[in-house]
Amino acid sequence: PRPADPLDLLELDSLLTPDERAVRDAVRTFCDRRVEPHIAEWFEQGEIEDIRGLTKELGELGLLGMHLEGYGCAGMSAVDYGLACLELEATDSGLRSLVSVQGSLAMYAIHAFGSEEQKEEWLPRLAAGTAIGCFGLTEPDSGSDPGSMRTTARRDGDDWLLDGRKMWITNGSVADVAVVWARTEDGVRGFVVPTDTPGFSAPAIKHKMSLRASVTSELVLDSIRLPGSAVLPEVRGLRGPLSCLNEARYGIAWGAMGAARSSFRAALTYSGDRVQFGRPISSFQLTQAKLTDMALELAKGTLLAFHLGRTKDDRGLRPEQVSYGKLNNSRAALEICRTARTVLGANGISLEYPVIRHANNLESILTYEGTVEMHTLMIGQALTGQAAFR
Ligand code: FAD
Repeated sequence: PRPADPLDLLELDSLLTPDERAVRDAVRTFCDRRVEPHIAEWFEQGEIEDIRGLTKELGELGLLGMHLEGYGCAGMSAVDYGLACLELEATDSGLRSLVSVQGSLAMYAIHAFGSEEQKEEWLPRLAAGTAIGCFGLTEPDSGSDPGSMRTTARRDGDDWLLDGRKMWITNGSVADVAVVWARTEDGVRGFVVPTDTPGFSAPAIKHKMSLRASVTSELVLDSIRLPGSAVLPEVRGLRGPLSCLNEARYGIAWGAMGAARSSFRAALTYSGDRVQFGRPISSFQLTQAKLTDMALELAKGTLLAFHLGRTKDDRGLRPEQVSYGKLNNSRAALEICRTARTVLGANGISLEYPVIRHANNLESILTYEGTVEMHTLMIGQALTGQAAFR
């Protein structure tokens, strides 16, 4: 007899507390009702319809900055946040990216390093989803090596003047506030930039074949003038942006397994329905080998995310532990989606099914928040004590 839930042969559900299950179910129900019916169309059009309305609803559900304390944030656990990421990304990586960038990058930066005034001005609105945030680190000539950034901030009397360009910035064109990292006389500093500041513009990046249901933009900073109070006072150097990235990477370790679960589910269902040579393709050994491999990798990746979540709640995570999850799970998820695509044959390339959308999205997930190669080198450094970045 088949087990009750073929998507969870190991009964990983039993690792969750009733409260955690309730969080998971609430996010799943919201995604199924509000986003799932439209997501293929949004992906095809390259635009999330009514992104402001959607962000507000995500805020009402308590999903924005949900693992932060105070200032209107929900103060949930790392496992709760991870489960939310998984469910959001089971719908689409673009939806999870919206929530990750808002909560783990923009809000986290202000929460961890901001002044009291910056926190009070921005965090309640960002948590409620009445404001959208973005996080500008990457530049046209500075990606994996953020220390090479060219954007500068210099003093002009009491003010700051920012000049430069940021590239590939999620939520950029729709953001009300940008956390921008720039080079100063004192090293890299973070700035809280209202996007209506004269000289700021954020043209959308077009022609993406991945994360199409997500806004990605360039940020142009053309001698923008900010008051002295715009700098994040509590951090100097690359430690600032890198600690924000660690938060977001943690969520990706969970999220990627959501995209993988959706694709696995589609392949399992499809293989039972599709008949060739007079039999369902699920009865062929080669198909079963694919399904088995997908199930193994899905369960292993989910277990890894769980372990990281429980560890984070218990005593915090070291960067190489986060790298473990981000590297393994983004890579495993992409492999699962590609295998699922083969099971669907020609239908595998159609947006009628979620699989090619997830696979294409995961190409971005593999690259952003530290590429596969960067995380490989970070784990390599932790294993050997030797840095091989340059
Ligand atoms: P590069 O750094 O130029 O790397 C190119 C290749 O060279 C990669 O394979 C890389 O691993 C490899 N490589 C580089 N150095 C080494 C080395 N020392 N050893 C071995 N291999 C190496 N950034 C933000 O700041 N904010 C955002 O919100 C944001 N959102 C994004 C959304 C999307 C959809 C995408 C695609 C990107 C986003 N990014 C964002 C940017 C992302 O973080 C960068 O693309 C990423 O850090 C890689 O930088 P790069 O593209 O410049 O590639």
